[in-house]
Amino acid sequence: MQHDIAVIGSGMGGSLIAALQAKEKNVLLLEKEPHLGGCASTFKRGKYHYNAGATTFAGYEEGTPLKRIFDSIGAKPLLLESSPAIRVLQGDRVIDRVRDFEDFMDVINTNFPHPNNDVFWRLVYDLDVAFWESKNPTFLRYSLKGKIDTLGSLFKMQKTFGRYLYQNAQKVIYRYFPNISEEYLDFIDAQLLITLQAKSSEVSFISAAIGLAYPFHKLYYPVGGMGALFEDITAGIEDLKKEEQVVGIKHHHDSVFEIETEKGVYESKIVILNATIFDSHKLFEEGKIQRHYHKFQQKGKGAFVVYMKVKNRETFLHHYQVILDRLIPDAVSKSFFVSFSDSSDVKMSQDGYSVTLSTHTELVEWIGLEKKHYKEKKKKLESFLLQAFLVYFSSIKKEDIIQSFSATPKTFNRYILRSNAGGIALTPMNFLRYPSTDTPVKNLYNIGDTIFPGQGWPGVAMGVDILQRRLSGEC
Ligand SMILES: Cc1cc2nc3c(=O)[nH]c(=O)nc-3n(C[C@H](O)[C@H](O)[C@H](O)COP(=O)(O)OP(=O)(O)OC[C@H]3O[C@@H](n4cnc5c(N)ncnc54)[C@H](O)[C@@H]3O)c2cc1C
Repeated sequence: MQHDIAVIGSGMGGSLIAALQAKEKNVLLLEKEPHLGGCASTFKRGKYHYNAGATTFAGYEEGTPLKRIFDSIGAKPLLLESSPAIRVLQGDRVIDRVRDFEDFMDVINTNFPHPNNDVFWRLVYDLDVAFWESKNPTFLRYSLKGKIDTLGSLFKMQKTFGRYLYQNAQKVIYRYFPNISEEYLDFIDAQLLITLQAKSSEVSFISAAIGLAYPFHKLYYPVGGMGALFEDITAGIEDLKKEEQVVGIKHHHDSVFEIETEKGVYESKIVILNATIFDSHKLFEEGKIQRHYHKFQQKGKGAFVVYMKVKNRETFLHHYQVILDRLIPDAVSKSFFVSFSDSSDVKMSQDGYSVTLSTHTELVEWIGLEKKHYKEKKKKLESFLLQAFLVYFSSIKKEDIIQSFSATPKTFNRYILRSNAGGIALTPMNFLRYPSTDTPVKNLYNIGDTIFPGQGWPGVAMGVDILQRRLSGEC
């Protein structure tokens, strides 16, 4: 049977676009793993469930692309609001990322007093509001109509955001805070690392503003784990095949695509790849397609995650961020993110909290290591994070941790065929060379966090919105 659309991969991008298209078209969704969701899946180890990567759900306010998509599919996620969104622990400082702007200013002025705090954070807030209010931003590179719409979007953005679209974020920060303390800059960079996978020196100010404003939005905890959302999202897709990895795709001129999996061969008129832009070339033999994907080199950072089952009676917030005064060994960050399952969540909190600790690391640190060296390095970083966790959460004792294990970029690659966390940081220099959802090959598209605009639920949903409009001929 020939399908209208084959979506390869059930991450945020793949699942959302497959569900939207399945309302009218004959859609095939293929996922390598038994769990849907990729970096945002929930898996089981022994008796216990853990979120593989993503733990926060945001960007779900009325009018946002994510909310529109969920409503259109009819998905009704079971959510608890996380309040305060994130508690940042930095030495003796306790910095709550509360949603209300004035309350947050009180927190910031207490922790990092500076006369320019108000004007800086107001700018961050206002730019973020303006970004999410912008109507139908488009980023398509390979069709005339797409290019015209993209130029239109760029023109509107230039009008709204002016120089902040291109200026380096760290330069703007230094303008407001010429003698910014190391701790204040660390705090800002740590916030950017969790939302953009990049520091202020690596991104434009508009990206930084959107990243810093993330906790001004409602942050939610999905009951039953992040993976539970995907069962809901994909409920209307009839042809969903789990544990079926695509190993090759053939495409001869303008004919249909032939998709080869470990279990069979499928035909489809349109293919949407949820594999990363860096890994997509592995599925094709055709030179033109290979050349397109080879333009996008794997750079970026990877994630290191420690998963733990913690038996403890104290009540914790859903999310914390710990910022240390020095780089974490074998990581590229001074901070790590801590997420606790909600005690009322029967599945995730069976026998204790399901806890994840995550930080950023260089991909090259892990790939190609000899087995013994790799294992030692993994154990060393896991132990470091566990010890730092026990220092900051002193009511938790070592013996309360009844299960713990960790994942490196290599582990992510083994399970979901990607080693990077996030995509290419959007900088003032690379804007026009950034990967888009369309490709130079007719009816071949990419979706997910390595194409514009990337990153997490809000960013990936915006990319899905662009692809949905492209497939319906709107842009
Ligand atoms: C540690 C960590 C923490 C994070 N925290 C958050 C957070 O709190 N909130 C948030 O919003 N975002 C968070 N993110 C980012 C977010 O998880 C990602 O941006 C998002 O999940 C990426 O979605 P994607 O659509 O690119 O798909 P991916 O997650 O990359 O999934 C792709 C899927 O495709 C499948 N696949 C790939 N190739 C094939 C093939 N050949 N055949 C079949 N299937 C294939 C994979 O198995 C996978 O399931 C986090 C990321 C990490 C790593």
